[in-house]
Amino acid sequence: MVRHMDTIATLDIARIVSDIAEEMRGISDRGAVASYIPPLAQVSPDKFGIAVVMADGAAHVAGDADAAFSIQSISKVFALTQALGAVGDQLWQRVGREPSGSAFNSIVQLESEQGIPRNPFINAGAIVLCDVLLGRCEPREAIGQMLRFVRMLAGDDAGTIKIDETVALAEQDTGFRNMALANYMRAFSNIRAPVERVLGVYFHFCALAMTCRELAMAGRYLMDGGRVDGHSIVTANRARRINALMMSCGHYDNSGDFAFRVGLPGKSGVGGGILSVVPGVASIAVWSPGLNASGNSQLGTLALERLVQRTGWSVFEPRLR
Ligand code: GLU
Repeated sequence: MVRHMDTIATLDIARIVSDIAEEMRGISDRGAVASYIPPLAQVSPDKFGIAVVMADGAAHVAGDADAAFSIQSISKVFALTQALGAVGDQLWQRVGREPSGSAFNSIVQLESEQGIPRNPFINAGAIVLCDVLLGRCEPREAIGQMLRFVRMLAGDDAGTIKIDETVALAEQDTGFRNMALANYMRAFSNIRAPVERVLGVYFHFCALAMTCRELAMAGRYLMDGGRVDGHSIVTANRARRINALMMSCGHYDNSGDFAFRVGLPGKSGVGGGILSVVPGVASIAVWSPGLNASGNSQLGTLALERLVQRTGWSVFEPRLR
């Protein structure tokens, strides 16, 4: 447990991170690996990685922190950032900002809410983001821009971060619900480009493959008021709002429970990753492929809960200095 005389400087983060990885290694109830596409179903449930990148740039990692995994819906955070960059607050005429309280791929709310998705982090919302990003460009350009953006955020000059084409194809082959969502929104004129092109972009974003270390690096702008290495990526106001959406909507219909247990902005993906942000303090990525009943990483969530218990980093705690 955190003691209130602890400070960020006196906490031994490296030790805490390695203790957490050690504890996770010993847990056998790891949840169920996503099985809707073969490339995800084949990932070993034994994997666990954690990376904590501090505001001063220090990185503390443990376990499989340097193994690439499919970030899936975590890419919705980067898509939201880019879509806001493209159209600003006009985006909110096409996407809401409320928790959905239903599954990530639910279609029911779209009927009563006239094709306006509840928030940018459910599938329907992210499909609208892709339509915005497609604008007048070709799908290939929108996908290339996303890849360059994420590499820039992560400081990946070598271009190690990739889009896994096998995953993108498998998403395409099984994406009947996403096709239904996109077509349904098109009927309300909330999708403007041809549905196949919008979904091509969406499936490729889902197929971004990154390590915990890269993902935590890429989340730094949300920790640091929109800046990375002194460069402004988004305004401080926009970073704060993206963090607010991650807190309220980042864990499907389990977002309330994540806020209760962890108390940090976070976005999960069905690949078993979670990106979480401690504003002003740290950007954190965890990965363990086994999911709980709501589709969030079972050990990833537990690891973040432990980290917050040991550091007092929840945004609902009096802030350590
Ligand atoms: N590729 C998944 C889908 O669209 C994303 C799921 C997720 O990570 O939430 O169905």
